[in-house]
Amino acid sequence: MKKLLAAPNLALATLWADQLAGAGIATSVQRAYACGIAGQIPPDQAMPEVWVEHAEDREQALALLDEWRKLPHRVWACTSCHEIVEGPFEQCWNCGAAMPRP
Ligand SMILES: [Zn+2]
Repeated sequence: MKKLLAAPNLALATLWADQLAGAGIATSVQRAYACGIAGQIPPDQAMPEVWVEHAEDREQALALLDEWRKLPHRVWACTSCHEIVEGPFEQCWNCGAAMPRP
């Protein structure tokens, strides 16, 4: 197990972990439940983190995340829960609904 990165929120951490899993890299989200008590502990310790199961996957995982971040930036509103989704994602990170097709 090796720490990959800290995510700004649990939804994004889970999304990245899912995407990496889809790319064949075993990951897990740590401190996922610390978010609920943010304010009682230092904020930098309340951030969820994405970890890779195997340290040797770390570089590939970071390269993939980098690639995903370079994809065209999109902003769309989920038709199911009205969450605003930003970035190269085709699924709502709040409820998992697919991006509406134009
Ligand atoms: Zn949604």
